[in-house]
Amino acid sequence: MRLVLLGPPGVGKGTQGRRLALACEWALISTGGILREAIARGTPLGIQAARLMDDGRLVPDDVMIELVRERTLDADAADGFVLDGFPRTVPQADALDEMLQGRRLKLDGVVSLAVPQAELIRRLSGRRECPVCKRAYHMTDAPPRDGRHCDDHPATELVQRVDDAEETVRTRLAVYAEQTEPLIDYYARTGRLIEVPGVGAMDDVFAALKQVVGCRRRAG
Ligand code: AMP
Repeated sequence: MRLVLLGPPGVGKGTQGRRLALACEWALISTGGILREAIARGTPLGIQAARLMDDGRLVPDDVMIELVRERTLDADAADGFVLDGFPRTVPQADALDEMLQGRRLKLDGVVSLAVPQAELIRRLSGRRECPVCKRAYHMTDAPPRDGRHCDDHPATELVQRVDDAEETVRTRLAVYAEQTEPLIDYYARTGRLIEVPGVGAMDDVFAALKQVVGCRRRAG
């Protein structure tokens, strides 16, 4: 199964994608995660991406397309993958179709997760992570035990992602509306769009997601 998770920043693509990939034994391909890792390692890709990401803008299409072309060829992606954060533009979506057609494969579905804008801002502004293990927290929805440090690394204070700062969140939401939201129609027109409401408890959203994508390999 080859799936795309589509939706605005803060909708839960990362969290739900991780759970889905684990439960269904598909590779999780998070383009934002790959870029953050490249930044941490100081690779040429990381150096190119850092400024754009910090400003909430998109990394150029050709860079992202090449990155996904290579990552989807890895052995762990052979039986299926969940794409979190790609495609984000129409040229990226076109390239994904071409890439898969060239391998005689197809995209099985595009899950669109949606929540109201006020809720997105609430989720993004409360989001924190452990700089050591990258475990995700939310200051009200999923706080750490002592309110400040990672549960697994008690000496490490949680941090906010640079691009979760208020001003950058506004840019990211505007970029989403302008460049990524048109993909909802793009995939609806070709009958590949599956809409799942992203509001409510994380477990309920996950159960709905798992049901619509038809993962039957393992309970999770
Ligand atoms: P995310 O973790 O998916 O919110 O991505 C964080 C940032 O990485 C985005 O704001 C972009 O700057 C960059 N990024 C991730 N995926 C893509 C993509 N498919 N196209 C362009 N930029 C991307």
